[in-house]
Amino acid sequence: MEKLTTSEQLNSFIDSHDTFLFDCDGVLWEGSNVFPNVREAMQLLRSKGKKIFFVTNNSTKSRAAYLEKFKKVDIEANLEEVFSSANATAAYLKYVVKFPADKKVYVVGMAGITQELEAEGIRCFGGLDDAGAHDVDEIPDDPEVGAVVVGLDIHINYYKYCKAFTYLHNDPKRLFLLTNADSTFPTHGTIFPGAGSIATPLMTALERQPDAILGKPRLNMLESILAEHHLDPKKTCMIGDRLDTDIDFGNRGGLTTLCVLTGVTKENKLKSEDNTIKPTYYVDSFGDFASLSN
Ligand code: PLP
Ligand code: CA
Repeated sequence: MEKLTTSEQLNSFIDSHDTFLFDCDGVLWEGSNVFPNVREAMQLLRSKGKKIFFVTNNSTKSRAAYLEKFKKVDIEANLEEVFSSANATAAYLKYVVKFPADKKVYVVGMAGITQELEAEGIRCFGGLDDAGAHDVDEIPDDPEVGAVVVGLDIHINYYKYCKAFTYLHNDPKRLFLLTNADSTFPTHGTIFPGAGSIATPLMTALERQPDAILGKPRLNMLESILAEHHLDPKKTCMIGDRLDTDIDFGNRGGLTTLCVLTGVTKENKLKSEDNTIKPTYYVDSFGDFASLSN
């Protein structure tokens, strides 16, 4: 684990890679605040002809909606460069599970999940439609349900838990999928419970683990990106702020990894003896690329 602090170190790091995968929150921005010098640093990589992809565990927005965020904060990105845990979940159901057309998915989550499922031609229900107060006296089963997908849901309520529980409890062959298992995510200068925390009550009630978790550190998204864009893992670096998602993802996928200290990981945690997930490199912030490199 090497800290990149000089121009020489940073230039040699940049030159030895042709592709950079970016985690977004905690690296580029926090919420709607872009970190200092991020635009300049990104421009530098683009001017050197580097391939850039954005890999986020945030399932709340579709890829198209996420792109709007890039536009709003004035960071260049195009749709083919954006990968999310919602989109990975839809791709998994379509290409790996070959989810049958006569079945549908119950969604505990936001529009990002329902929109990505619909974009892959997968029928779904729930999501934002089940927000608000609902009676939980009776939850009828629905034989068309073939899977339950759970992601971050800011409208989570007991009714949604009862529905998801009922479908999975009534037929254990129905798939139980998580977009991602982040315990928390950074927001408004603090952290809030993430998708993993939303899913935990269901796991407790069902006494069952999910059949698959599609976000980082699981390698589904990485396999799609490497195959779709014919990338060499040895010349690809994953840049992230979270050890148990981003850095583990890159390390297990055979990439080099760079941890930034602008997100959830601080230097003392990185260096602590208890930490078993070490990045290849670390920097104070991604913006350092702009000031240190030449
Ligand atoms: N999940 C949710 C709901 C989020 O809002 C975020 C970040 O905003 C994340 C996960 C983590 O996203 P990333 O993988 O880009 O850090
Ligand atoms: Ca992050």
